Parts: sequence; C-alpha cells; structure tokens
Amino acid sequence: MNRFIIVAGLLLFFSHSLVAGEIVRDYPLDKISDRVYVIHGPLEMPNVDNQGFMNNPAIVETSDSIVIVDPGSSLQAGRMLMKQLESISDKPVSHVLNTHIHGDHWLGNQAVAEKYPEVQILAHPAMIAKAKAGEAEVWVKLMHRLTEGFTDGTLALIPSVAVNDGDRLEVGGVEFRFYAPEDAHSRTDMMIEVVDESVMFLGDNVLYQRIARMDDGSFIGSIAACDIALEVGSKLYVPGHGPSGGKTVVESYRNYLDILYNEVAAYYEDDLSDFEMKPKIRPSLSAYHSWSGFESEFGRHISLAILEVEQNSF
Ligand SMILES: [Zn+2]
Repeated sequence: MNRFIIVAGLLLFFSHSLVAGEIVRDYPLDKISDRVYVIHGPLEMPNVDNQGFMNNPAIVETSDSIVIVDPGSSLQAGRMLMKQLESISDKPVSHVLNTHIHGDHWLGNQAVAEKYPEVQILAHPAMIAKAKAGEAEVWVKLMHRLTEGFTDGTLALIPSVAVNDGDRLEVGGVEFRFYAPEDAHSRTDMMIEVVDESVMFLGDNVLYQRIARMDDGSFIGSIAACDIALEVGSKLYVPGHGPSGGKTVVESYRNYLDILYNEVAAYYEDDLSDFEMKPKIRPSLSAYHSWSGFESEFGRHISLAILEVEQNSF
C-alpha cells in the first residue's frame, strides 16, 4: 500500500514537472516542387495532443543555402523542422522568412538560430514592431498555456530585417518576391512568391480546410489579398494552414470570405442582428461546415463582419 502511494506520488510529480518537450513528433516533409518542401501541420488549434504544432513550415533549397518559411510555433516545432531538413540537405540555413505576427508561425525561429546563429530573419516592419511591443511575449505565454508547458524553453526570436511590398531577394539563384497586402489577416502580413518554382506562400491570408481567426484582420482586406495572390498566377499555393494546391486553394477561401461579408452587409441593411443573420447565412456556407474551426469562428466572423460593414458605411 505504501509502495503504491509512493509510486502514484512519483507519477504525479513527474507528470507535472517533466512537461517541457525536447522536440515535436515527426510529421512528413512533402516535396511540392523541385526545390520546395512543406510540412503540412495539423489543422486543430494548438493543444496538448498536437504539441502546439499546427502550421505549414517550409524549406526552399537554393544552390548555396536553405531558406525557411515560418518554422512553427515553438522551439520544439522548429527543432522538428531542422531534423527533417537534415534528411534532404546539409546546406546551411541563410534566411528565415516570417509571414505574420501570429506566434504559431514564427516562434520556431529560435530552433534555426540554435543551429545557425548567423541566420537572417525577415518579416514585415509592422510584424517586427508589434512583436517588440509585447505580442511576442503574449504568444510565448499562450503556447505554454495551450500545450500545458510542452513549449517551455521557447524564446521569441524577433526578426531583425524588414521587407516591404515589392521587395525582392535572391538567394543561391532563387528569386523571392514579397507581397504585403494591407489590412488583410493580421495587418502584418507578407506573402512570398518563389518565382522560378511558381510557388506562393500565402501566410494566413488564405487557409484551406481550416477557417482563420479574423480578430486582427479585415474581410475586405483578406479578399484583396486573395486577388493579389490569384493575379500572381502561381502553379502552387501554400496556405498558412491546410493542404497546398492550385488556385482552387485561394478561390475556395476567397469564396468563404466573400459570401460571409456580402450576406452580412445585405442583412445589415435590413436591420437584422447577428443572431438573426446566423441561421440565414449558415446554409450559404455549407461547403465550409466541415472545415476545421468553422463552428468556433462562424458566429464570431458575423460579429466582426458587422463591425467592418459599420466602419465602411461611414
Ligand atoms: Zn495567423
């Protein structure tokens, strides 16, 4: 009996004290073009089960070095990406590109710098400013809470090089072009085209099979971002979350935003409240009911769209 109590006590002790993880479990690295690889992460919000990992980290192999896009939500997620990188190349990582302020995309920067301290980390100037103003710490704490400590040890390594709309970067014979849609998903957004590969990274301006939080963004701005991406005419699009694919990826998400915003605008004219709108708009979005996050975001999106319609009607 005493032994049982001691064992149970020890188990309890360890289950609470050894929660910080070393590395996120392996996810496959998908080769989507000659030089571009993507880990398509889980679609659920960060939690204990997915170890906080949910985005689409990517690797672009140039002839001289490696460029990484959005290395994940934590030191542990970034380490998993670095481990996967070893399986395809021993070239050093020269650059990390971060698409926006949300920490599920960039807190893995630390894992790249852990191995390559000279790495340059690039992002939109507003992303850098917001991170420095306190968002970085908010995200570190949020990841800790959602994973019950798995991401402990993660430090926010804030990008130090600002890139702007229209900028270009050439690394080892590969050209990157930057597109900064205004007031889109997070007001810190950067989309990145890998020109020769005809691949475009969309950040969270476009998601596929998952519905985005829109609390920091705008519907009109996100629709405009979709149009910018479609205008580029890439063969392959990599959303912030969900599978990569052709232009359908962008069109599907644009369609969701467009239906939701325009129906809200029309019912707003008829003086309907948010709870009256909800059952009317829901059937128009039946194609999206199965997307991850639909149930938790749909009602909120209506409220946010009403605020945006109000702002735009003055
Ligand atoms: Zn985001």
